[in-house]
Amino acid sequence: MSTKDYLEKDYYKVLGVAKTASQEEIKKSYRKLARKYHPDANKGDAEAEDRFKEVSEAYDVLSDEKRRKEYDAVRSMPGGFRGQQGGGSFPFDLGDLFGQTGGGTQTGGTGERIGDLFGGLFGRGGGGRTTGTTRRARRGADVETEVTLSFGRSMNGVTVPIKLTSEAACNACRGTGAKAGTVPRVCPNCEGTGHETRNLGNFGFQEPCKDCHGRGLVVDDPCPICHGSGRATGTRTIQARIPAGVADGQKIRLKGKGAPGENGGPQGDLYVNIKVLPHKVFGRSGDNLTLSVPVTFPEAALGAEIRVPTFQGQPVTLRLPEGTPNGRTFRVKGRGAPRRDGTKGDLLVTVDVQVPQKLDDQAREALARLREANAGDDLRVDLLQQAKQE
Ligand SMILES: [Zn+2]
Ligand SMILES: [Zn+2]
Repeated sequence: MSTKDYLEKDYYKVLGVAKTASQEEIKKSYRKLARKYHPDANKGDAEAEDRFKEVSEAYDVLSDEKRRKEYDAVRSMPGGFRGQQGGGSFPFDLGDLFGQTGGGTQTGGTGERIGDLFGGLFGRGGGGRTTGTTRRARRGADVETEVTLSFGRSMNGVTVPIKLTSEAACNACRGTGAKAGTVPRVCPNCEGTGHETRNLGNFGFQEPCKDCHGRGLVVDDPCPICHGSGRATGTRTIQARIPAGVADGQKIRLKGKGAPGENGGPQGDLYVNIKVLPHKVFGRSGDNLTLSVPVTFPEAALGAEIRVPTFQGQPVTLRLPEGTPNGRTFRVKGRGAPRRDGTKGDLLVTVDVQVPQKLDDQAREALARLREANAGDDLRVDLLQQAKQE
């Protein structure tokens, strides 16, 4: 696959999928088309054969996340790089553009050049592709971890130590996997590509080479420290600053705190998934805190001033107006969760009118008098009427 191929061919169109298609959709469409245009089913039909090749080529690129990213990146280059759309001719030689010397013939090696260009960006360049002499700078991997916080710590912000286990190159063999004094050789099974094509019934698909596990290299004399893998496991602890006001389920990105880069490449990022334990009393809704307060029937009916707690602050007085219905929510400004800009959300207080469970004689008498006073009011008249509607 050459740069020119990448620029000229619309693999999404070939497979009939959207640019945003999932791997599942790509695979499904490929299978359908591969079956349709397979040479076995179209004996002697040159056009079907061409289509079959196109479909396979498109799938090779789009089914590989790294190559797909490269393809998307090349395709999204500014117009000048794209050449004349559809015409197939290019205003200048792409080989020069990518630092290739010589006559600019687009050989099979051009694909590797794209790897050079984007290797740092996409973390590619390891394994079987390092057949050249230069070692490429490579960005470290992004790392994901989870932190569980109490409600209070999530509100106040906290610095937590996070222990990270990450893969690094084995020190003893410098990542080659070969015993000191020996070198790995190109895998004869896949000829260094790291993948092989397996035929399944009507069509074939690519999978990692089983001899070299996708590395493209095999080791005859394995390094005794890493047993030939070339990788070592390192543990380090970093201090992660979790900002005040984080909510359960939030994901925080700590730039440059991921796995170390290789050959001078930048560090990856660390993503921290936040879990917040529930509070006994306070809940959370966006930037607001929520609180349910019990209120007696007379307080709700006659109106009252009630004291309600705030999170880590003095209680505040809330005035309930006469005839406050059960479930009404009141807003206490600025007593919610901290926001990024230093302001705070609100405290949302919902009244929960209680029915007395125990009554002394005096209360019972008072309620009986209330019932008498309300005699003749049937709250369910409308309900019974409306229930008759078809
Ligand atoms: Zn192999
Ligand atoms: Zn080793």
